[in-house]
Amino acid sequence: MLLRLFLLLLAFSQPASAGKGAPQHNNTVIIGMRLESSTKPGAVHLIKGVIQVMEGSVIQLRIFGQGIHESTWEIVYFSELATAEPDFHNFNDSSCFEESNDLRVQPFSQDVQETSAVLTIVVKTLRRDVHTKSYVLCLEKDPGQSQQPVDRHNLYIQVLEDVKLELPLWLIIILMIVLLSLSGIFSGLNLGLMALDPMELRIVQNCGKPKEKKYAARIEPLRRKGNYLLCSLLLGNVLVNASLTILSDILVGTNMVAISISTLAIVIFGEIIPQALCSRHGLAVGAHTVPLTKLFMLLTFPLSYPLSKILDYVLGKEIGTVYTREKLMEMLKLTQPYNDLLKEELNIIQGALELRSKTVECVMTPLEDCYLISSDAVLDFDTMTEIMESGYTRIPVYDRYYSNIGDMLYVKDLAFVDPDDKTPLKTITKFYNHPVHFVAHNTKLDAMLNEFKKGKSHLAIVQKATDVEGEHEVMGVVTLEDIIEEIIMSEILDESDISAETRSKRRATQTRRWDFSAFRAVGNEAKISPQLLLAAHRFLSTEVQWFYPNIITEKCLLCLLKHRDVICELKFDEGNKDAPHHFLYQRNKTADYFILILQGKVEVEACKENMKFENGPFSYYGVLALGPLPVGDNTSGFLSGNITRPSFEHMVTVFGSSGSSNQVLPSANLQYMADFTVRALSDLLYIKITRMQYQDGLLASVLETSMAAAETQSVENADGQKNLS
Ligand code: ATP
Ligand code: MG
Repeated sequence: MLLRLFLLLLAFSQPASAGKGAPQHNNTVIIGMRLESSTKPGAVHLIKGVIQVMEGSVIQLRIFGQGIHESTWEIVYFSELATAEPDFHNFNDSSCFEESNDLRVQPFSQDVQETSAVLTIVVKTLRRDVHTKSYVLCLEKDPGQSQQPVDRHNLYIQVLEDVKLELPLWLIIILMIVLLSLSGIFSGLNLGLMALDPMELRIVQNCGKPKEKKYAARIEPLRRKGNYLLCSLLLGNVLVNASLTILSDILVGTNMVAISISTLAIVIFGEIIPQALCSRHGLAVGAHTVPLTKLFMLLTFPLSYPLSKILDYVLGKEIGTVYTREKLMEMLKLTQPYNDLLKEELNIIQGALELRSKTVECVMTPLEDCYLISSDAVLDFDTMTEIMESGYTRIPVYDRYYSNIGDMLYVKDLAFVDPDDKTPLKTITKFYNHPVHFVAHNTKLDAMLNEFKKGKSHLAIVQKATDVEGEHEVMGVVTLEDIIEEIIMSEILDESDISAETRSKRRATQTRRWDFSAFRAVGNEAKISPQLLLAAHRFLSTEVQWFYPNIITEKCLLCLLKHRDVICELKFDEGNKDAPHHFLYQRNKTADYFILILQGKVEVEACKENMKFENGPFSYYGVLALGPLPVGDNTSGFLSGNITRPSFEHMVTVFGSSGSSNQVLPSANLQYMADFTVRALSDLLYIKITRMQYQDGLLASVLETSMAAAETQSVENADGQKNLS
């Protein structure tokens, strides 16, 4: 029908337009129009051919007709109809008289052809009380000339009010506040609840504070349906955020302002504040809003549940954060300032976690630092001394070369071994026959610990396979202590370790408390075995006050004992029992020496009643002949002259003999007179220390102690300076 009309019009207007070059408004005829675009949704062609547009929009119209040219826009205008709806039965030209300002044709036409062009029209907003208005397109002919009557069915535009939700201001504000809070709750819960993974919730339920346990128990059922919860919360959040934007649009009107306000409000109150809060107190907030969350899950069920099922299917089950050993360690380390673990506890945890990643090779004592003993060794005093000095309890026994370890010697095996017997080591190792515990160099520490737990030797020989098949190379030894040190990540010092700093793997190099080597036999002139010398030394320094370590140092005492003349031998003459050399002391005769019997028997005759009795080894006589008991600590006193002039009263109080023999106190000129007789009854081996020798020993002791004190002082000073710098 449109086409028919168009052709009709064409025929009708043909003569007027013929033979003209310049644009002639008179010749322009418009018979229809089509909506090309609109800035607002809702613009449509109605069935009756009327174009419906929204107020406040800008539209583009394509006009059809004839004689259309560049400046056609100048003569096109819209005239308002008297009625809201166009009256199709009663159209006449009168409707074109008045140009309406509501629809403004913009300058310039586009896409101009002879029969069509596109015009841009700005549609103004209607008055508040008007809901709809209709307009008709008119052409402005030469002044006074009215347009020919045409069927204007296709030239009507109806402008509709852009309907807005009309709500009272207070309601809008309340709604916005409610929506904002909901938005906040959703995004807060989204962060707070989703951040608490199911594993963490279970942990909190088991070992949290009572309140946390309660909260976690409340949240856990919800959190288990992770994806459903996530979909509901996000759906809810998007829903309220979108509603907020619309509400602010209603409140403020202009779009840009509405967008700005809603964005700002949503960001601050709907996202930042709640998320900041929930990231710290997610558990509490989540637990208190469980009913609300449940309600929202129910409301969004139709959409969020299927969605969550799809997610479950695609992504699989959510397990939660599972920590590997490394992650766990790192977490503990990083959280150390905040958790209540002590540094030691942390070390132990770390050490235990690292057990499986370390091999025995990392913790063993390398072979070159090991103390081994040759299977050919003989257990004489020297060897035993060396073993004692090494300080080790378990000693691998090698045959010919170091890496050929075939036996173990435990120091306790030596309990019944007398150095004098010079027992071959093989006898002992064969008797005890301890199994040797070998491990591969790449054995992990946890496996090694299990091995040690099984009750095998607590020392294992670490070995590595060589290129030659079946042969192994010994790399070192590893003990239970090495593994425990690795677990606690610090050194274990035992009784035989001096200090962590001075400790070296080879203990033989350390300063030891007992330096047994000093007792070793020196040359051929030794009349006494090292053991007996050791025993005499121990006896004097513990039993006889004059030789206590605080009076004469152990070292000086040893020097004294090792003096050539001190150890004496006496050959008993069976033929002449009363030979003068049998008498060690004689009553009423002066003596300036002290005697300790080591071997043999003596007869002591004491008191005026001539009581006689026999004495054996480790009886001693004439202690007062050494002079008065020096006072207290040897670091003080002697140098100030006490040695040469001891007080007489002091000497009176001391009776140092082990026997019941009485001793006559030395006279004022410090001569000592024995009031008893000591006579040998057999061959004797004894220690005889003269007063002079003893005084020399005392002096040497004083010197040694003061030098040691000075050394300590200087070391301390140096340390202090180092600390200061
Ligand atoms: P225990 O403490 O059981 O009496 P121990 O003190 O001799 O025995 P451990 O405490 O097990 O020995 O180990 C201490 C350290 O000495 C460890 O580092 C270990 O590797 C090392 N060690 C043990 N025996 C020897 C040895 N024979 N030679 C060298 N190093 C050893
Ligand atoms: Mg030890």
